[in-house]
Amino acid sequence: MSSKLIAKARKLLSEERRIEPDHWQPFPSNRGGELSIALAYPHRYYTAMSNLGFQTVYRLFNEQPRTVCQRVFLPDPADLEEYLRTETPLFSLESQRPVRSFDVLAFSISYENDYPHLLRMMELARIPIARKDRTEADPLVVAGGSTVLMNPEPLADFVDLFVIGEAEVIMAPLTEALGNGKEAGKSKAAILSELTEMEGIYIPQFYSTAYGPDGTIESFTPRGGAPPRMKRVWLKDLNGLMTISSVVTPKTELSSMFLIELSRGCFRRCRFCAGSYTYFPHRVRDGPLLKEEALKRLGSAEKVGLVGAAISDYPDLISLGREFLHSQKPISFSSLRVDSLTPELADLIYDSGQKTITLAPEAGSERMRRVINKGFSEKQIIQAAEILTDRGIRSFRLYFMIGLPGEETGDIKEIVEMTKKIRHHIREKSRGKRGAEKILLSLNSFVPKPGTPFQWHPFEDIRSLNEKIKTIKKGLGRERGVAVAADLPKWSYLQTLLSRGDRRVGRLLLAAHRLAGNWPQAYRSVDLNPDFYVYRERTYAEILPWDFIDHGIGKEFLWSEYQRAFQEGSSPRRP
Ligand code: SF4
Repeated sequence: MSSKLIAKARKLLSEERRIEPDHWQPFPSNRGGELSIALAYPHRYYTAMSNLGFQTVYRLFNEQPRTVCQRVFLPDPADLEEYLRTETPLFSLESQRPVRSFDVLAFSISYENDYPHLLRMMELARIPIARKDRTEADPLVVAGGSTVLMNPEPLADFVDLFVIGEAEVIMAPLTEALGNGKEAGKSKAAILSELTEMEGIYIPQFYSTAYGPDGTIESFTPRGGAPPRMKRVWLKDLNGLMTISSVVTPKTELSSMFLIELSRGCFRRCRFCAGSYTYFPHRVRDGPLLKEEALKRLGSAEKVGLVGAAISDYPDLISLGREFLHSQKPISFSSLRVDSLTPELADLIYDSGQKTITLAPEAGSERMRRVINKGFSEKQIIQAAEILTDRGIRSFRLYFMIGLPGEETGDIKEIVEMTKKIRHHIREKSRGKRGAEKILLSLNSFVPKPGTPFQWHPFEDIRSLNEKIKTIKKGLGRERGVAVAADLPKWSYLQTLLSRGDRRVGRLLLAAHRLAGNWPQAYRSVDLNPDFYVYRERTYAEILPWDFIDHGIGKEFLWSEYQRAFQEGSSPRRP
């Protein structure tokens, strides 16, 4: 074990402040059948500890009786070298014990492009990557999180058990079943077999997939009592459980920020948005209760981060925000809906000291906003920018997608035109006031997500996306104070592959892992065409790899929404 790595882990721990009382016992206190869980985030500490989902699962695991949970992260690049040089096995942060000595290795996953890190971490932990190669001596590998909720299949060869749904609901029955199984000395195979009927648990070894001559799925068959379709589990009443930071640390991208979830899901139903469809229905926490709980636990956190799919729709936002400001805690707002931006909200943002505001028009033309069911007009976008400018905010981040279904050259030009108009209005409103206006245009390639109306749609050709980025950059090249940042379409291509793939995509993932992340070579080395998953439009009749997950919204409804998009029809909001 590297003493340098151990010292670094201890230093990180010493800089953390725990919000919740410690329910967990230091490892190893592995007595009386206590279940030990290494909770892994497939990215660095810096990113992971800014993720409220990961923090929540950490707290929930440690709140379960007879359960002890410690965290593990993807090492920083320099630490990785040290791990390899000293042949140190991947260890947990809290007590620096090898991950392989835990009963369970549980991954919390939020981004498809982190999948390769999952394999890397298992290798560093000296746990066989393929589930078929693991023995009773290895931990049970579990995975959950937003990407798993959409489609776990690309990871099916590596994970023993998936959690399909929201952790709050499944945590108690799952840890109880695993703890009882361990106490009774049952084998992993026996424990898994007993878990097949538990709601929200998907065990891939109990399903087999057959493919037709055209490569599409012909059948997806359960066995051993596993259900053919699986209802995702979800928390009906958010008020029973506060989702707040459990650890505050300066060593994250959100540095010493206390995170608090206001709502889950979104009633707006933008057709590309997985957050709206897979976290259906929209739920909000009670304002006064949230206020009381948060103020009790904030402690020395330097600022408050409000979390939710569309926080400007939260009914108690102003009074809650004012309460935090009153307690000398600045608030941080994520992206805001332009049509819910009021002068009162703009005042709150300004008073909280936030200098840059993100607005998400998503598309430049009215037509494209109808296609995606965005539901607001150019006039409302400009009005929102004006309200914010009036209140003293001069710096904007505008978020647009390119490659949306039905997008034409004219729609791309309208992104340029709209940005110019926004800049013009900001400039007019700022005349005679201090501070130069700034606009950062953030361009993101549209990735069709499982469980949404656009799940059948192909990803746009990478060359075409690069051309569109060039057109926008050129169109805004002479605009003072405007900068354009674009994601790399090749990474969005990969995200589409990992998001919409079936089990066979695991072979590509394994090849890329063995080739140290060289995806072009991985594509060439495996007899599987990635374009089949990325560029192909699916038909309604096709069995999709994630069809077995029931999110509570019928496939017929999603299909009708997909068709309505091409008629540029809007859809009513649903609660
Ligand atoms: S407003 Fe649209 S994009 Fe934003 S969270 Fe709601 S459904 Fe998703």
